[in-house]
Amino acid sequence: MKYWGEYKIRLAKTILGQNEAIQNLSYYRNQLFFYLILYTLAFSPLAILPGIIASYLTGFIYLLILNIITFLVLIFLAFIKPLQIAIRKMIFVSLLFIIAWVLLFNLKLEGPGLMYLFSVTIVTCLIHSAKFAYVLIFINSVLLGLLGLNIELQWFTLSLTENQSTTTWFGIVVNLIFLSIIIVACFEIIFKKLEKIIIQQRQLNEIVNQDNLKMLDTQKVLKEKNEELNQFAHTIAHDLKEPLRSMQAFASLTVSKYKEAIPEKGQEFLGHIQTSSERMALLLDSLLEYAQLGKGKEKSVFSVKELVKELEKDLSQLIKENDARIHYNGLPQITGYEIEFKQLLQNLIANAIKFKRDEEKVEVKIKSKETDDHWEFLVADNGIGIDSKHQKKIFTIFHRLHKNKFPGTGLGLANCKKIVEIHGGNIWVDSIPEKGSTFYFTISKNLEKTTTSE
Ligand code: ADP
Repeated sequence: MKYWGEYKIRLAKTILGQNEAIQNLSYYRNQLFFYLILYTLAFSPLAILPGIIASYLTGFIYLLILNIITFLVLIFLAFIKPLQIAIRKMIFVSLLFIIAWVLLFNLKLEGPGLMYLFSVTIVTCLIHSAKFAYVLIFINSVLLGLLGLNIELQWFTLSLTENQSTTTWFGIVVNLIFLSIIIVACFEIIFKKLEKIIIQQRQLNEIVNQDNLKMLDTQKVLKEKNEELNQFAHTIAHDLKEPLRSMQAFASLTVSKYKEAIPEKGQEFLGHIQTSSERMALLLDSLLEYAQLGKGKEKSVFSVKELVKELEKDLSQLIKENDARIHYNGLPQITGYEIEFKQLLQNLIANAIKFKRDEEKVEVKIKSKETDDHWEFLVADNGIGIDSKHQKKIFTIFHRLHKNKFPGTGLGLANCKKIVEIHGGNIWVDSIPEKGSTFYFTISKNLEKTTTSE
């Protein structure tokens, strides 16, 4: 097997040269020629050796010489390097042509000469072109016709045409030529169609490649814009914190120093300023956290089951207060960004507990499923649910549905979306109001293939 492989590679290098792209039919014609030589040379000892012995024993000296020459020419075609494939094909076809005529003269019509003469046109049509095959058919017709005339007019005494009647000869010849023309014509039609398909496929591939390149460009621009936006959010959040801190400080200073002098209504307004600025500080912190998300992320292999166990401890207070139960089983080990992944699960579990129905005990289920290219997880609850018209919007930044009833910043799910995206996945929700919600997200397995952390 090893030797066969080496033999094949060597022959391919000599005959085909550099790997050529599939441009048109000539690619397949060259391949066909390569395989013809590959197998003919490899198995030629099986035919040539018995041929040499048989022609020696039967005294056909020309056939003996022909067998040896054929073998040598095959070796030449397979291993001599600086020779164009078109010339190799010519030599091969000429060899077949000579074999056919030598066989015809030596073994007469009973031998395989006519069969060779027929096959040489077919092989030519397959590895070269229909045009060239027609030229060969023409040459064969002229030569066979001349031989026919010789039978009739007795110009020379030839053993091949001895004892042949002109009618039988022309009967055989016309059949051979007719069959050759029909087959070459059929091949030509099929090849033309094939050529058209190959060209169409090539054009399609070019279009797809161009589209892919455009898509890559757009992706790059989008990534840059996203990066800019992140940077912008980070700067805004960071810079706004400073004046906010002064506002908070002066509000408390005013309250502590001039409390007596400020009328009750004024104190109430100052209280509002203080709570609003506290809320604003919380929002700015969340925005900063959102902008920072994924920076310096590190890829590792971790157990999701262990992460959920840790989260049960981290959220024990919330779980206890709400008498919640978290069910999970058979969670896998995955490759991802552990810190971010934990935050993703934490947000989803905390939401599942937070948005509960008053009368129900909280039940949270976490499950996973594996496909060929990704992991799919779900976090399901039996809480208040989400109306279908809000199910897409809740993943956008600051989008909250129950502002007065439940506390929050509206950044939790936006964070989740960002985390899932850096894992090459998607996130979506399926929910029935007053029954519960199921959040699904996927994690790409491509992360397993790349070894470095980005
Ligand atoms: P926050 O929890 O801070 O309000 P999120 O981004 O985490 O912000 O969620 C956005 C909105 O989506 C929430 O205000 C809530 O209305 C809705 N939501 C999120 N998770 C659930 C859930 N498990 N059940 C019902 N509603 C939910």
